[in-house]
Amino acid sequence: MSQPLIEMKNVSFQYEYTQVLKNISLKVEEGDFLAILGPNGSGKSTLLKILLGLLKPMSGEVKLFGQSNETFAHREWIGYVSQKSNAFNSGFPATVEEVVKSGLTKKIGLFKRMPKDAKILAKEALASVGMEDFSSRNIGQLSGGQQQRVFIARALISNPKILILDEPTVGIDHENVQSFYDMLAKLNEEQNKTIILVTHDVDTVSNRISHVACLNQTIHFHGFKEEFESISQTELENWYGHAVRKIH
Ligand code: ADP
Repeated sequence: MSQPLIEMKNVSFQYEYTQVLKNISLKVEEGDFLAILGPNGSGKSTLLKILLGLLKPMSGEVKLFGQSNETFAHREWIGYVSQKSNAFNSGFPATVEEVVKSGLTKKIGLFKRMPKDAKILAKEALASVGMEDFSSRNIGQLSGGQQQRVFIARALISNPKILILDEPTVGIDHENVQSFYDMLAKLNEEQNKTIILVTHDVDTVSNRISHVACLNQTIHFHGFKEEFESISQTELENWYGHAVRKIH
């Protein structure tokens, strides 16, 4: 079996007084489409920040592509779209193409010149999220769902192997959520992007994902979606302390 792209072993983390993650062990293999589920405050964003190298665990080990997270030198292999990305108001003075091109700074460095083919790369990235006709539009004039697609294109422009998305459907109209997930599934299947998604939309996303991880301080379950479907509702509620929806 090939080496996992992400491997966490016994990772624990606490903010000053709050223990947030306890003994987290998690492996993500190439091609996985993993949904991380958990109630508010369960540590999902903290776990993503650890993967991105923004927070250092108190104990345990994090490996990315087989290398220690502390010395990992290929951050551009991991594309990240945060929850707050699509907060542009209508006055923001940047075109869609400019926003997408700004994703290249991760690869080339902040003060280097844009490569000559940046325009072509931006066009390709926008095409993979179905937004090729919007490149000269002002980002602030787009809907929440369209902006979110643009931010995914911005992450895709440096050709990452993993895409990490923190609640990407917040701010997307209900009727557009399914087509948003269809787009992600295409990236997963046709471009072989490994996708990690923090979400509450367990029903909507369920026909698209391959794996589920249930987090509430610790990982209560991690496995194939089909195994998740066979977990009882009572067990889920025990983990979360309140009612959660199961995949139907
Ligand atoms: P989730 O993403 O699942 O909602 P978070 O990882 O954001 O959870 O937060 C987990 C816990 O850590 C919460 O109790 C939250 O209040 C706390 N927390 C988050 N960020 C900080 C911080 N910067 N300082 C102190 N506590 C924090």
